[in-house]
Amino acid sequence: MKRVILAALAAGFMLAGGACALPFADGTEPAGSEGTVTVISAEEPAPADDESRGEYVFSMPEYTGEDVITLNGGMPCFTDGDAAAPEGVVFSGLDSLGRCGAAFARIGRQLLPREEREPIGTVKPAGWQTVKYRNVDGKYLYNRCHLIAFELCGVNADERNLITGTRWLNVEGMLSSENLIRSFVEEKGGSVLYRVTPRYSGEELLARGVEIEALSDGDGGQGVCLHLFCFNVQPGIVIDYLTGESYPLDPENEWTEEGSSAADDSHEPYTPPEGVTYIVNAGSHRFHLPECKGVQDMKPSNRREFYGSREELIELGFSPCGSCKP
Ligand SMILES: [Zn+2]
Repeated sequence: MKRVILAALAAGFMLAGGACALPFADGTEPAGSEGTVTVISAEEPAPADDESRGEYVFSMPEYTGEDVITLNGGMPCFTDGDAAAPEGVVFSGLDSLGRCGAAFARIGRQLLPREEREPIGTVKPAGWQTVKYRNVDGKYLYNRCHLIAFELCGVNADERNLITGTRWLNVEGMLSSENLIRSFVEEKGGSVLYRVTPRYSGEELLARGVEIEALSDGDGGQGVCLHLFCFNVQPGIVIDYLTGESYPLDPENEWTEEGSSAADDSHEPYTPPEGVTYIVNAGSHRFHLPECKGVQDMKPSNRREFYGSREELIELGFSPCGSCKP
């Protein structure tokens, strides 16, 4: 995964010329009243129409093996109108194919969630398929992928905020930007303009990727200054973006319930692989901490390693073990 060196981007920020070097250069109207936390349930058009982005025009980048690339020299393209927006989130309505559009937020401390996440399993984003592969972390190819992360805005099961994204996009693509913004807001108390735009090719139901723009306000982007594209890809899996259907490059990675029972009847003590977060019993639908005694007692054919979060497991219908209380 490519890591973005923010200090270098921030230094470039002051010097860069060309299209949208000044992030607040145009004169659009402020988006709302000041000082209130609003989650706007707007049916109005996307707040981030291309014409409001100065001279910058997005064109779909080609995937050449880099999961995250820089756009526009790393300069986000927020307008004066964006800069005047109060703390809150604005989502686009779904289009005629049921696809999400751009999501915009000004993220400050007030917007960070305080409540627990509610389940999101009821939302079926465009192109959604429930499909597993042996070579995908957590097995499920697709996640319900938040445009504006729950950790940043507290909006969870909203169909305008969830796209069909690969596990890889969620974790390797978007997470580092989200973590950066979250820690900037938490630690520095600043606010960050943030826009995530899913980008589709024609009538395809699955986004080819998401465009991410972020700029810390009031410090000239020294804390956060990003303009990225994260590809909606998964290593080893071929995806049909038109429908969301997929197949593995190596047929060995096809998920079969029997295929995972090769280690049956083995009495060797089981050692979970490094990085595993939970062990799941596919028979009882309970999940455990890797060190739980219940893991050793589990029938190997029912044992699955899981690399995601507790919330995801619960969303998938698993319940925590009463003994190790994961
Ligand atoms: Zn347990």
